Amino acid sequence: MRPLLIAGNWKMNKDLFETLAFLQGLKAYAHKHAEDRVQIAVAPAYPFLVTACDLLKDTPVKVAAQDVSANDDGAFTGEVSATMLASLHLPFCLAGHSERRQYHGETDFVVNTKLKQVLKNGMTPIFCLGEKLEEREAEQTNAVLERQLADGLSDINLLTGREIVVAYEPVWAIGTGKVATPQQAQDAHAFIRNWLMNNYNVAVAEKIQILYGGSVKPDNIRELMLQPDIDGALIGGAALKLEQFTAMLDTSKEVVKIK
Ligand code: PEP
Repeated sequence: MRPLLIAGNWKMNKDLFETLAFLQGLKAYAHKHAEDRVQIAVAPAYPFLVTACDLLKDTPVKVAAQDVSANDDGAFTGEVSATMLASLHLPFCLAGHSERRQYHGETDFVVNTKLKQVLKNGMTPIFCLGEKLEEREAEQTNAVLERQLADGLSDINLLTGREIVVAYEPVWAIGTGKVATPQQAQDAHAFIRNWLMNNYNVAVAEKIQILYGGSVKPDNIRELMLQPDIDGALIGGAALKLEQFTAMLDTSKEVVKIK
């Protein structure tokens, strides 16, 4: 079985003091309740990544960046390169989050360039993709996923499947409180895994962790994580409160015992 990866995406929330308070609490939780099959990650804002890495260095909690520049280095004011992130020894970096696609005009081509930057610098990208409401209603979900996978992973060679994590995040479920049903999520995950099988191979596709994201909360995480092709969660709103985040980790620990 693939381990579950439970990752909190804090987006543009939490100042330094809130970041520290949460991470100290999470560190204490992880010391007491670590379970190898439930991996934990948090993605604080850029200014706090160094502090987060220092604070969590002897714990199983991994730190992720929320985004990365598509460029190598140079005159790109305000951007942060993959080389800079890699110098912090960050294991993970998100690419293609729907908020980047929606508010910053990121195309599949840009996402592909970012994925290559992350991989080239030895980090694991969490490649986010998912359909909009109108696309689902027009029964275009699979076509959209297929395009995002083909363009996003264009010219990316995966040898083991451990090099990348995929996060299926239907846009209509992000931050809306409208969660996909476990069956809707499972269907999309199975479609993604099948695409990976056909375009890489069975062994690679079987290793890739595919996370679900979109209004995951303590009261719905269990049924989602029980689905055979769901290997974790990317969580926004409900990852901002330590008690909710640890409650979802506790549930995930129960799930891995029976999955
Ligand atoms: C996200 O930002 O990736 C996300 C899934 O947010 P939320 O859990 O708030 O829907």
